[in-house]
Amino acid sequence: MTLRRNLRQLLSLNNTMSLTKVVRNIRARQKIKFNAPDRPTAVWVGKDLLDGRPIASLTVIFQTTGCRWNNCTMCGYIYDSAKKPPSHNDLMKQFEYAMSRCKDEEFIVKIFTSGSFFDESEIGTPTRDEMLLRLGKDTRVKKVIAETRPEYVTEERLSGAVSALGKPFEVAIGLETSNDIIRKDCINKGFSFSDFTEASSIARKHGVTVKAYLLLKPVFLSEGAAISDMISSINDTASWAGTISVNLCNVQRGTLVDEMFERGDYRPPWLWSAVEVLKKGKESAPGTIIMSDPVGAGSARGPHNCGKCDDDVASAIRIFSLTQDTAIFNGLDCQCRELWKKVVELEGFAFGPPLVK
Ligand code: SF4
Ligand SMILES: [Zn+2]
Repeated sequence: MTLRRNLRQLLSLNNTMSLTKVVRNIRARQKIKFNAPDRPTAVWVGKDLLDGRPIASLTVIFQTTGCRWNNCTMCGYIYDSAKKPPSHNDLMKQFEYAMSRCKDEEFIVKIFTSGSFFDESEIGTPTRDEMLLRLGKDTRVKKVIAETRPEYVTEERLSGAVSALGKPFEVAIGLETSNDIIRKDCINKGFSFSDFTEASSIARKHGVTVKAYLLLKPVFLSEGAAISDMISSINDTASWAGTISVNLCNVQRGTLVDEMFERGDYRPPWLWSAVEVLKKGKESAPGTIIMSDPVGAGSARGPHNCGKCDDDVASAIRIFSLTQDTAIFNGLDCQCRELWKKVVELEGFAFGPPLVK
């Protein structure tokens, strides 16, 4: 199998080296920049869906100590984390700064921490409760979505969050794929599909909806294998998540993906692959909201086609995410589509390096 062969090549750098060690070695060589502790890592206003209609969304990435796991092959979020743990006051100032950014009359709030909102070591319970109480009282806020790893989704934490917030709440989990081998050997995610389904069951018990993030084309997968993985993952995940968001892998600095990209051993997914995944995924799970935000589309380090059609295809993906209507993809075409088809057909035989940059 191509995946196994490529992995063996990488690990043969050092016979005893695990994927975790490889990622840790790369991390150790990076510099973490200083950010003011009372400012979030990032905050922006965008668009999302609420009960089938488009609505403004305020996304905030809180600056915390970062992800406790910190071993995934594609993730560079740790470089945005705080050098020392921010205090309750720092975090509440970050919160207030973020909430002042959205001027819309109604919006949803999407909370990220470059880790897990429910991890006590990132955001303590009193701080989390105060944020949720304030969001609950703010009449502009129609729903809150918070990202977390599944091990932090417990009965106690969810019931506390639900009673503090008192309005629609969703947990977002970076499942990446429903395939335990790919999640372990290509992503090094550190949890299993059953950990995810357990978290999903706890969420449902408390009336909390679930969003699953999937990852199109982690390292060591050919374009065709990556597409098949996403289509079967959407199928497997649809009964456990009301919304599935397909992340198109981009090359973040200081990651294993970055090292392989620089060596010519990795190419981010084609946008045509994303279109194929969204079309087939929606066909097989029509009752599930399926979306994708093609971050970095058209750049060498982001998902891309030939350069001529990238803007049109990325914009169709964004429109589909808001309308859920696959008809938007029907009019798309470009000369590079035939080349992409050949890549999907043949890349699995190349045993590693991408056929086309
Ligand atoms: S669990 Fe999430 S935040 Fe943590 S290393 Fe993996 S991708 Fe990054
Ligand atoms: Zn093209």
